[in-house]
Amino acid sequence: MSVAKNLDRIKSQLLENVTLVAVSKFHPKEALEEAYNAGQRIFGESRVQELDGKAKDLPSDIQWHLIGHLQTNKVKFIVPYIDTIQSIDSWKILFEINKYAEQAGRKIKCLLEIKIAQEDSKFGLSFDDCRALLRDQNWKALQYVRICGLMGMASLTDNEVQIRKEFKSLKSFSDELKSSFFSDNPEFCEISMGMSHDYKIAVEEGATIVRVGTSIFGEREY
Ligand SMILES: *Cc1c(COP(=O)(O)O)cnc(C)c1O
Repeated sequence: MSVAKNLDRIKSQLLENVTLVAVSKFHPKEALEEAYNAGQRIFGESRVQELDGKAKDLPSDIQWHLIGHLQTNKVKFIVPYIDTIQSIDSWKILFEINKYAEQAGRKIKCLLEIKIAQEDSKFGLSFDDCRALLRDQNWKALQYVRICGLMGMASLTDNEVQIRKEFKSLKSFSDELKSSFFSDNPEFCEISMGMSHDYKIAVEEGATIVRVGTSIFGEREY
């Protein structure tokens, strides 16, 4: 199957208001070009160095999403061009992004990464960490980051019941935060959940963004 056909097939399964992020990590830039030529403009990468290289070589109208953990010392490299950082997991990183975004004169869309999986993941905020981050009002002073919603990854399992439960928990947490902290901010509206093996469930459970790699580009070679 070609990249273009895969994109067509996946898009036909998404609701119109769901954004498809093509996760291109570990794939060569020729694969991204194929997707670009088929009309895809939103790409997700998980490592800053790889993202930087691709962003330099590929068309400037691509909207790049960072979906992997971001270290504070790497923020300055991506701030000049990144569209959305989906992997915000601390106050410190949000603060650092704001600082460089101010220098660059850009406002950067950010999603808070929430731990919803059973397995112990290294990154992401627990529900309580996230509530604490938002309760402490400091983030409101950050003029150059726009908190646009949440990102989460379900457990790596074939158990559909479990996956659905985790997606439901992210949706209801999003509803909670909307009413507690963002009732006057319609920008907080995105729920990024669902990957190749579970994006159909994610869409049923209210995803507004899905992040699909393997089903578009094939298996990654590490
Ligand atoms: C790699 C990755 C994806 C895409 O995974 P596939 O199974 O290849 O679709 C989605 N989200 C995150 C955070 C990832 O790291």
